[in-house]
Amino acid sequence: MDVFYTSPWVPPEWIAAHGFQPRGVWSSPALDLRAAPLAEGVCAFAAGVLRLVEARPAAGFVLTTHCDQLRRGFDALDDATGNSTFLFNLPATWQTPTARRLYQAELRRLGRFLVRLGGAAPDRSRLQPICQAYEQARCRLRAAAGTCSGRRLTELSAHYHWTGEAKSGSEPEPETGAVPLALVGGPLPPSLWGLLELIEAAGGRLVLDGTEAGERSLLPQVRLHPPGEPENQPTSTGAPRPPDTEDGVEILANAYFDALTAVFQRPNTRLYQWLRARVAARQVRGIILWHYVGCDLWRAEAQSLREALGLPVLLLEADETDGHSLRHAGRIAAFIECLR
Ligand code: SF4
Repeated sequence: MDVFYTSPWVPPEWIAAHGFQPRGVWSSPALDLRAAPLAEGVCAFAAGVLRLVEARPAAGFVLTTHCDQLRRGFDALDDATGNSTFLFNLPATWQTPTARRLYQAELRRLGRFLVRLGGAAPDRSRLQPICQAYEQARCRLRAAAGTCSGRRLTELSAHYHWTGEAKSGSEPEPETGAVPLALVGGPLPPSLWGLLELIEAAGGRLVLDGTEAGERSLLPQVRLHPPGEPENQPTSTGAPRPPDTEDGVEILANAYFDALTAVFQRPNTRLYQWLRARVAARQVRGIILWHYVGCDLWRAEAQSLREALGLPVLLLEADETDGHSLRHAGRIAAFIECLR
């Protein structure tokens, strides 16, 4: 049975350990961002997720509270879909022990939901190899991020979130004179990858995929050793380090909590630290801020991105097309021309 998750900060290995196939919802070929009529101000991605929930009553869905659109969407769905949907409370803060405990508690609550859905609660000996397999896949993709094109990494990340597996990267791209760009913002499902073609056609080169399920989603480092072996806690990215523990669920929760690098958290300084390091290392010259109409979270970051990274920012709205729109093409071409 498929269990879809709407944020990369829900550990897919926890879903898999209960006997389900985790599916990053943004990777779904059935995610329809175009067809349904959208009320003004409703994010096309959130609306597409809600349509997918209704179209797949036999699947499980883990929605998240990282934005009001999905939170309210869950409220609207709950009666219709009975027990197959779950709302995961992602803490909006990260600097307190309370926020960490909330995340740990949510992971355990998700486990109880998955058992109600028909799954089996995993013991340590079942959880460990699944965590290891996911960690190995992320590790391969993190390594690939340093060499392959941003376009290829977008494809690899989407495949990972759909299957849990890592395909091979690509050879480093030869220098072509194309302008190195970062793409930052909301989820970019395969149906909108036409945007990447527009960037390339206009003389740009994507060197950093900072969209919701792109390179950032590969950050969690879960080191769950077999029972009886000493633990090696992941390095904290700034949050208070938790006490050592033998509890596999807690180790998994701490790894994700420490890696959580997202726009919705306050402060979202970890997002900016992550961006700053990679923008400098990859010599990014301009940023495309991709956001859905109605997504205040990302739209509000435009000025902060300019100031924090010292680079021009092109604000590009998803307009429920397949990413090939003439309007987008013209704006991207003009932006890249200015950067030359
Ligand atoms: S793109 Fe923005 S509004 Fe839409 S689901 Fe994601 S965070 Fe929410």
